[in-house]
Amino acid sequence: MVQAVSLSKALWRGFTMKCPNCGRGHLFGRFLKVADHCEVCGEDFTPQRADDLPAYLVIVVVGHIVVPTLLWVEMTYAPPAWLQLAIWLPVTLFSALALLQPTKGAIVGLQWQTGMHGFETTRRHAMQTCRGVGRISEA
Ligand SMILES: [Zn+2]
Repeated sequence: MVQAVSLSKALWRGFTMKCPNCGRGHLFGRFLKVADHCEVCGEDFTPQRADDLPAYLVIVVVGHIVVPTLLWVEMTYAPPAWLQLAIWLPVTLFSALALLQPTKGAIVGLQWQTGMHGFETTRRHAMQTCRGVGRISEA
């Protein structure tokens, strides 16, 4: 039986870097390389087209956290510039790297759940194949 996965569940599974369909298989083969398919349920991930959206979202989120905090520290404590750089450059770098893969996973989960970029076609084809509708007659 095919059970529908809600948008929030697909986003969360993607954010936790798991397959949006089953929630058990790994979504990524390498750091930002989405696997071709799920090793548990076989879901095809090749229709995903996250492109630059995860990077833009990470820049917006990290920028909206780091910049106001940096300005608050500057206004409150006025530390020397080298100390500001020594704190905020690594914070920016590590938080961006930490958020990039989960954000990309969530975008792939969004695309998968809403059937974007060929996910719907792939899903429909898989269901037809399961029912034998799409099979070539052997007679
Ligand atoms: Zn799966």
